[in-house]
Amino acid sequence: MNRFIRKSFAVNLGGIRVRSRCLCGAAAAGPSGSIRQSNHGQEQQCSGTSIAQYDIAIVGGGMVGMSLACSLASMPLTKHLNVAIIDSNPALVNGIRINKQDPPDPRVSTITPATTSMFRDIGAWQYLQPYRHAYFDQMQVWDYTGLGYTRYHARDVDKDSLGCVVENKVLQSSLLLCIQNADFQKRIFPSRLVSMSLNPGLKSKQMDGISSEISRADLAKLHLSDGTCLYAKLVVGADGSKSQVRELAGFKTTGWNYSQNAVICTVEHASENQCAWQRFLPAGPIALLPMGDNFSNIVWTMNPKEALDRKSMTEIDFVKTVNHALDHGFGPHPTSSLLGKGNIFSWFGAGVPTSGNGGFEIPPKVVKLASERMVFPLSLRHANDYVSKHVALIGDAAHTVHPLAGQGVNLGFGDAFALSRVIGEAIAVGMDIGEASLLKKYEAERKPANIAMMAILDGFQKAYSVDFGPLNILRAAGFHAANYISPLKRSIISYASGEQRLPLFT
Ligand SMILES: Cc1cc2nc3c(=O)[nH]c(=O)nc-3n(C[C@H](O)[C@H](O)[C@H](O)COP(=O)(O)OP(=O)(O)OC[C@H]3O[C@@H](n4cnc5c(N)ncnc54)[C@H](O)[C@@H]3O)c2cc1C
Repeated sequence: MNRFIRKSFAVNLGGIRVRSRCLCGAAAAGPSGSIRQSNHGQEQQCSGTSIAQYDIAIVGGGMVGMSLACSLASMPLTKHLNVAIIDSNPALVNGIRINKQDPPDPRVSTITPATTSMFRDIGAWQYLQPYRHAYFDQMQVWDYTGLGYTRYHARDVDKDSLGCVVENKVLQSSLLLCIQNADFQKRIFPSRLVSMSLNPGLKSKQMDGISSEISRADLAKLHLSDGTCLYAKLVVGADGSKSQVRELAGFKTTGWNYSQNAVICTVEHASENQCAWQRFLPAGPIALLPMGDNFSNIVWTMNPKEALDRKSMTEIDFVKTVNHALDHGFGPHPTSSLLGKGNIFSWFGAGVPTSGNGGFEIPPKVVKLASERMVFPLSLRHANDYVSKHVALIGDAAHTVHPLAGQGVNLGFGDAFALSRVIGEAIAVGMDIGEASLLKKYEAERKPANIAMMAILDGFQKAYSVDFGPLNILRAAGFHAANYISPLKRSIISYASGEQRLPLFT
């Protein structure tokens, strides 16, 4: 199955090969070559007389870049490293202000139990705890045909929760506080990477017509938008789906844009919602995620035209369309009577225990829109390589996935923790942390896990892009199998919780 998923994904991706384009004027060399880039096709000039040197330059101080910094700060072998974090987001320098009285921000992430425990291990959870975060122990997934539904409960896997919904600004603030309070040599550069040279010593630099050799042969050189230059043994691209590091390092990507946008917002109910709900509709899934108090977050996928309409319609009409989509709109509620009196999965034999606790429930009504509505285009993108000498990609810079199962940033956190572990192992044996053979260990660990998750999410997206009778029945059978066969159900829950096992009968 594992091999099958990887193979079919490779075939799938093979159909569309997207060539990386250089964002800058000069041409890029391959992953192992020397590169000099600038916005004007010329060598950038550095301000100041001396250029500082860092062990690691993390380009991108989003959730994933900050989690790498925090993880490095937490480990005895890596906490002495000298780290530069480059991001023009002023909040990284001025602090992230969170007012507990405000309704939740619409940008949230569902984090898995695996991510929660990593946050505890690196010491970031204590900074998150005082702020709003909502655990959920139940999840219901169903589709508009009325043919199938699945209800998951944390107790199916002897856990207390299936996940936790947290505002992105709370996640980022906890990571920022974690590194600010750690005894860790870091410097935040409120700027953007504009160009990068790998093996700069192999190049000569023209100054006033005189050619002078740059001596730092085994370091990468980074040029920032404010004129600052710096050297680093390792450059980590944590700069999101349009990664400049990925472009400048010459990594190719494979992927496509979905003809779908996600509309996100915060909504309010008359009482607290404690379940994560997801209904697959003809144009894409709608998710209602508990946010604590009487708030929930909506992530609603649809075609771009519908997304613009739903963003601009009146609040009253929007609330009506949300309730319609989460209740009987587009099709009937599923009923277990579709299964007949017996259990259709009895043919799996006496050896396979069945589950099926909890009947179908209707989600709580939305009474009010509690935030602005935001629209995000959706895409799948995967870097063919994650590493080369001096460079590693993590998070959305390496892979961007459909948000339908709330896995994107969880995969990115997995990358960050894996990379920090590999760096620690290198330091333990006195290896250069920019060595490609070392960085390949990180790639070998994360690439199969990320590709497997991407393939599953892309498969779901495609299976729900078609409204076709026999396929609808197959999907319904899938839902019932996931609901009624205990080992499969447990396996799906464990995988979605961040355990790396694929959902098989194990
Ligand atoms: C609608 C929606 C819902 C989602 N819901 C979930 C969910 O529930 N759970 C989940 O796990 N994932 C979810 N995701 C995915 C998740 O948001 C992303 O995976 C995550 O934000 C990626 O984090 P990142 O730090 O890798 O990249 P980003 O968040 O994109 O951060 C990149 C950072 O790099 C900086 N940067 C960019 N270019 C440069 C440069 N040249 N120089 C310096 N800095 C630069 C940017 O300023 C930014 O701070 C969702 C995504 C969408 C669109």
